Amino acid sequence: MNKGIEFLLKKNKVELIKGEARIENVGKIGLSDGRTIYGKNIIIATGSRPSAVPGFEFDHQRVLSSNDILAMQTLPKSLIILGAGAIGCEFSYVMNTFGIKVTLVEMVDQVLPFEDDEIAAQLKKAFTKSGIDVLTGHKAVSMDKSGKDIAVTLADGNGKQQVVEAEKVLCVFGRRPNTEDIGLEKIGIETEKGYIPVGAYYQTAVSHVFAIGDVVATPLLAHVASKEAEIAIEYIAGHGTEKKIDVDAIPSAIYCEPQVASFGLRESQAKANGIQYKKTVFPYSAIGKAVAIDKGEGLVKVLTDPTSREILGCHIIGHDATELIHELLLAKSAELLPDDIARMVHAHPSLSEILMEVMRGTSGEAIHI
Ligand SMILES: Cc1cc2nc3c(=O)[nH]c(=O)nc-3n(C[C@H](O)[C@H](O)[C@H](O)COP(=O)(O)OP(=O)(O)OC[C@H]3O[C@@H](n4cnc5c(N)ncnc54)[C@H](O)[C@@H]3O)c2cc1C
Repeated sequence: MNKGIEFLLKKNKVELIKGEARIENVGKIGLSDGRTIYGKNIIIATGSRPSAVPGFEFDHQRVLSSNDILAMQTLPKSLIILGAGAIGCEFSYVMNTFGIKVTLVEMVDQVLPFEDDEIAAQLKKAFTKSGIDVLTGHKAVSMDKSGKDIAVTLADGNGKQQVVEAEKVLCVFGRRPNTEDIGLEKIGIETEKGYIPVGAYYQTAVSHVFAIGDVVATPLLAHVASKEAEIAIEYIAGHGTEKKIDVDAIPSAIYCEPQVASFGLRESQAKANGIQYKKTVFPYSAIGKAVAIDKGEGLVKVLTDPTSREILGCHIIGHDATELIHELLLAKSAELLPDDIARMVHAHPSLSEILMEVMRGTSGEAIHI
């Protein structure tokens, strides 16, 4: 465990017992070394692991998981990344910056399949400009490791095949919750697609047993796991009032350059569900600070309710997007309307002026465009 976390646990008088745990009964945990520990409440937080896909099994040397690539001691000359979710995009950016020839492959028609499509298209453009080969709409169908380089056969939507080659392959197809072999059957907890079902306060169907983080079917994010843990612990301690996280108020943050950050409704979701919305977009290139620091690439997109003007969703691609998103999220959480942000004086020059402008833009009153 990270030394800083160990220090914090010790400082807060949390006993850390190292060992592989298995639930034996409610309140009773067995450890792999034969010890047994007891506690009135159990919080299951065993996390997740990289999904292995048949035909693309990790060998941990040439065919890598996200754990393997983080432990890598030397850099390959070339790398194929299969899967353009958040982890695939972040590693594409990092490895390309290190000078590695990166080919990024994604089965669906956009990188970041769970982000806004316009934002994803901008990221693909930026990646391509930076030298990354981005192949969206291409499914990896097989892998041949017999040569010096690994050859991956891809098929597009029409079944047309092509082969790409690289020294190593990083497979980031998704993650699986670690819910097998932890004794859930001993206390009668059944999983759904591997995830542990929870109700208010992240309590499972069994009282005094809670589950948080990647073992629960909420976004697999560190800040989600932390908040869920906080809600469960506050409840156990007898002073919890918050029952669950509002999933529409969870920020998504992707750490490449340009960064991507978002929360709430996407345009594709609105269209699919017949939700009325007004879309307002403002470019980084019209903000003085962005131009001054040579970060004029990017945009902020806001979806609002055309009648109530409520903020429904916000999507940012650009420099420091993962910081900027929080002003909009605070506004949404506090039930502010676009005018409240539009009226607030924002420092000049600052990137956050883009938020003031996009909110002015929702009523056609943006100034610097
Ligand atoms: C490459 C990568 C990058 C990421 N980047 C981000 C990011 O930028 N921002 C973000 O918000 N999220 C990010 N995530 C996701 C984030 O790491 C997870 O959502 C978060 O760690 C989940 O927390 P958790 O406590 O549920 O599980 P984990 O952090 O995985 O912790 C689970 C722990 O339980 C231990 N364990 C498992 N089984 C047992 C057992 N039987 N007995 C005892 N111990 C056990 C494991 O060893 C592990 O230490 C990233 C994930 C990856 C893989």
